Amino acid sequence: MRLTELRRAIDEPAVGAALYDLVRDLYPFCRSITGPGLRQTLAALAARVPLTIHEVPTGTEVLDWTVPQEWTIRDAYIRRPGGERIVDFREHNLHVMSYSTAVDATVSLQELKGHLFSLPEHPDWIPYRTSYYARRWGFCLSHRQLSELDDGEYEVRIDADLAPGHLSYGEYVVPGAREEEVLITAHACHPSLANDNLSGLALVTLLAEHLTGLELRYSYRFLLMPGTIGSITWLSRNQPAVERIAHGLVAACVGDPGGLTYKRSRRGDAEVDRAAAQVLRHRGADAKTVDFSPYGYDERQFCSPGFNLPVGSLTRTPHGQYPQYHTSADDLGFVRPEHLADSFTAYLEVLEILEGNRRYENLFPRGEPQLGRRGLYPATGGPQAEIETLGLLWVLNLSDGGWSLLDIAERAGLAFDVIARAADALAKHGLIAACPDGADSEPA
Ligand code: ZN
Repeated sequence: MRLTELRRAIDEPAVGAALYDLVRDLYPFCRSITGPGLRQTLAALAARVPLTIHEVPTGTEVLDWTVPQEWTIRDAYIRRPGGERIVDFREHNLHVMSYSTAVDATVSLQELKGHLFSLPEHPDWIPYRTSYYARRWGFCLSHRQLSELDDGEYEVRIDADLAPGHLSYGEYVVPGAREEEVLITAHACHPSLANDNLSGLALVTLLAEHLTGLELRYSYRFLLMPGTIGSITWLSRNQPAVERIAHGLVAACVGDPGGLTYKRSRRGDAEVDRAAAQVLRHRGADAKTVDFSPYGYDERQFCSPGFNLPVGSLTRTPHGQYPQYHTSADDLGFVRPEHLADSFTAYLEVLEILEGNRRYENLFPRGEPQLGRRGLYPATGGPQAEIETLGLLWVLNLSDGGWSLLDIAERAGLAFDVIARAADALAKHGLIAACPDGADSEPA
């Protein structure tokens, strides 16, 4: 089966339910950039696709960075001396600042407040805070809860280790006819946050599952890894694979109700940039394509000037642009199966363009070949028939070996699917012939 057939056969409600179930299953784990929660997450995903899980030792030098110590969190709480837990890691893993150092002390409210984080503008939400590279301890709690703390003494305990260990990431390759690769990644370093990290992880894992066994033009490499340090580690260890990347997408925030957003690669006009823009153009007014910026997720590393890879990022509402971002409100109620499924289909549509974007040569270029005689004119009229006919005429007219199907779709203002179907039909009737694959590829 080819990717086009897969996309046409996709059962969106079933895919949405599967994506949502995966998000829900991974939600409780306390992930960070290293440690058992990340490892548990990768192990759960490896049960679905045969991920290779890499373990890179603490202290390994990776580009300008060093693989950090591994963080293990077992328990954390704040309580009145001898009393009930007021803030409890077992109730929500966002309560402890990620990469917090251990503490076991009795402190005054005044001192405690220097280690507490809350969101006055959203008094019921717990913020998500990290301190990866500065050693400190801290708790996050709702502003309502913070305001209710009375003067007096508090017992604070964070049972955690920062010790030499490993950085873990998952990698999986689906081979295709060509050595050139499509890179698809998601970050896996946030604790119980559903849209920011879990939605992307679920989508990439299910994509990998669906692409396995397909008849593919490109090879596909899937990476599930902690943000920033994970991609830097991968880039530093995989120069030969880096050179094979022909297209790439960073998946994140794909389960919220907002419209789709594609952020272009640093190049701005890479084939993946044009393919994603083409998909979004035909997906309604709330889908938008925006220019590259050196902020966001791992596209920052893939698009750093020394790599400058053709890697964009396809999300729904971008990071930081929804109020629930990095708070406990980015939960299982914020992501919905229908949005996950819609994002999944959009990914398939972009990949479908990359897979199908060939150049053809018109074998009857002098005058139009007679389509009616070959049964290529739709039998009945109407707007759809008119679009199909236009597709045939555009492909015939521009197929001189120079124009790709994506070029034609852009110039004709038609959906890629219409152009690809027209090319299929014309090729079946011997009116056009595909140019050799690869002869036309853009350098990575
Ligand atoms: Zn984040």
